Parts: sequence; structure tokens; C-alpha cells
Amino acid sequence: MNIVTLKPSKEKSLLRRHPWVYANAIDRVEGKPAPGATVIVRAADGRFLGRAAYSPHSQIRARVWSFDENEPIDHAFFKRRVQRAVADRRAMVSGTGAVRLIFGEADGLPGLIVDHYAEDAGNGRGQLVCQFMAAGVEAWKEAIVAALTSATGCPNVYERSDVSIREKEGLEQVTGLLAGDEPPETIVTNENGVRYHVDVRNGHKTGFYVDQRDNRALVQTYASEREVLNCFCYTGGFSLAAMKGGAKRVVSVDSSGEALATAQKNVDANGFDAQRATWLDADAFKTLRRLYDEGERFDLVVLDPPKFAASREHVDRAARAYKDINLTGLKLLRPGGLLFTYSCSGAIDSALFQKIVAGAAADAKVDARILKRLGAGVDHPLLTAFPEGEYLKGLLLQIP
Ligand code: SAH
Repeated sequence: MNIVTLKPSKEKSLLRRHPWVYANAIDRVEGKPAPGATVIVRAADGRFLGRAAYSPHSQIRARVWSFDENEPIDHAFFKRRVQRAVADRRAMVSGTGAVRLIFGEADGLPGLIVDHYAEDAGNGRGQLVCQFMAAGVEAWKEAIVAALTSATGCPNVYERSDVSIREKEGLEQVTGLLAGDEPPETIVTNENGVRYHVDVRNGHKTGFYVDQRDNRALVQTYASEREVLNCFCYTGGFSLAAMKGGAKRVVSVDSSGEALATAQKNVDANGFDAQRATWLDADAFKTLRRLYDEGERFDLVVLDPPKFAASREHVDRAARAYKDINLTGLKLLRPGGLLFTYSCSGAIDSALFQKIVAGAAADAKVDARILKRLGAGVDHPLLTAFPEGEYLKGLLLQIP
């Protein structure tokens, strides 16, 4: 049997149901657990703490599957966890074809992400896209895929484990078909009445930023008759939502030509007037400044940049970058204008993000007011024992 015994007093976080065991908390390992193998985690006094997946190459040396001494880790375990996650989403999420079915630790499956894209036309059963980011879920991949197809009735499963975090687990990056048919070039899915092309093979992450659904819906609500600037637009998520909401004009910026090509396809897929939309293949930092210098002004600005802080060491530099875009974003607003601003850096918490934005408002010399605090949708739950799971935060601001 594989047993991991912790050093004295290192059991505290596990007793609070935090699912990670760091290498430096471990006193000794009995047995020869392979990567992803199940180990029993015990406190220094021998007390059972949990069953976990062992990851010999990672500083997060084990991730707990279950704190219940009577729960074995077998095929039935994964079937139960997947079924519960899928049932939760069915009960909680509506109005969208793009749903995060499994969100790692919050669904008791550390290191696993699964999104489902239903086809708008209603033909076919859609597409599941997975990211396996830890040794444990990697070892149980087959069981997980079987559980997913059975719980969802969707036979098509594609893997997008092309994420650098796998290297910390001693795993190579992989992509490819896991079950069913090869995905089509794009899947057209529908979110809150807007059609989006999703390229699960080459798109970012699993193809679409599912986490911004509620925020795109909010922009749709407030876009009517407004002139909108959407920076870091990717395939036009917020831009299309604004057009659906009746925006007069939408200017969108991204440095990925491919993403912008898909965005333009999205305009056509929705039958929107292409004249209302301008797509700029450019650096958003420079474009914000140029638009300001040229005297352009907007009623609604969206800033949804990529993760600027990959880890704690990058927080200072990231803070300067967030401040820079928020400063110019605020200055570009007309009186009464709205700023939707986001950070998806886990290393920058919501308090710090608000401070950065406050600094930008001070420098812009505007009395910005927070109308709403924003985050990911209900299909991205946050485990109370695991605050590390929070990454996306945002603010809706208005200037006088
Ligand atoms: N808001 C989008 C997701 C944005 S993801 C949605 O709802 O779908 C972040 C985007 O920023 C990516 O598309 C990436 O290509 C783009 N990007 C990264 N650095 C950039 C830069 N310096 N200038 C412009 N775009 C950038």
C-alpha cells in the first residue's frame, strides 16, 4: 500500500479540507507510488486524512480525491463525481450552449477542466473538450472520458492538454481525439441568443472563454445605442454581445489575426450589419493610447486582457500593465460612460485589482464609481476551502 505521512502539524490544511499536499509537508512515503497512483495520506500520528493522487515531479506532491475513509478511488468514484458535476450544471446553467461541466478542485477532480459546446442548430450532440493538468486525472483519463460520455450523452471528446502547467507534473503537452468523431473546423454554439464559432482544435484554452458568459450578457444589457470599445476581444465575445444589445458602433482590438477572422465570421453568423463593427489587428496598449490621442471617445469600454501575472513574482509588472490600460480606458469614456474591466490573474486578488483600478482613476482624475463586482459564472464554483480557485475578477465602473 502507498502511504504518505505528513510532518507534525502539517495536517491542519487537510483537516480544513484544502485538497493539496505540498512536498515540504511530507515526512515519508511508503511504497513506490507511480505518477497519479492513489496514496493514503496520514497525519504524523497516523490518523487518516484522505486518499490522494501522487505526483512525484510536482511541488504539489499529492491532490486529495476524497476525505472519506470509506470511499475507494475506482471507476465508480469517477462516475459519481462526473455525474454530480454534470447534474449540478444542468440544474444551474441555462440560456447557453457553452458550459464548464468540470472545474477542477471545485468538482472534486483536481486538475481537470471540461467544457461542453452544444451546437446551435441542434444537430449532433455537441463536443466535449478536456484539459488534464495533473498526474492524477492523467492516470484516470480513460475512466473520466467514459464517465463524461455516459453522463452527458455526448460521444465526442477532444483533448486540449496543451498547457505549460503539465510540465510541472512531468507530463508532456498533448492534444487530440479521445472519443467519438473528429471535431468539425468550428462548432457554432449559442450563448444568450448570440451565435459563436468555436474552434476547439486551435482556439485558446478549450476554444472559447466560457467564464465570461454572465459578463457578456451584462454588456448586452447596457449596450443599446452606445459606442463600444472592446480591447483584447479574441473572437469577439463582448463585441457580438454589444451588437446584439443594439450598440451603435463597436471597435474591437486583438493581436491575433486568427481570432479576429473568427470574430468576423461571428458577425455574419448572427446576421449583424458588418458596418457597425471595426476590427483592429493591433497591440491593445498602443491602440488605447492612439485612440485617445486622436480624440476618439466611447460610451462603453471593455478590457479583458490575458493573464498578466503568471505567478507571484510577476505581480508588480502586471499591476503596472493593468493600471496602464485602465487609466487610458477611463480617459476614453464620455461622461456617464461604463468601464467593464477584468483580471484573470490568480496572483492578483480582487482587493488588489480594485486598488490598481482606483490608482488608474486617481491618475485619470475621475470619480469612478463601482456599480458592480464581477466574476465567472455559476459553472465556475469556488470551493470555500480552496480560495486559490478564484482567478477571474472584474469591476463595472461608471464615471460622472
Ligand atoms: N474577452 C474575450 C477573451 C479575451 S482573451 C472573450 O470574451 O472571448 C485575451 C485576448 O487578448 C486574446 O485573444 C489575445 O490574443 C489577446 N491579446 C494578448 N495580448 C494582447 C495585446 N498586447 N494586444 C491586443 N490583444 C492581445
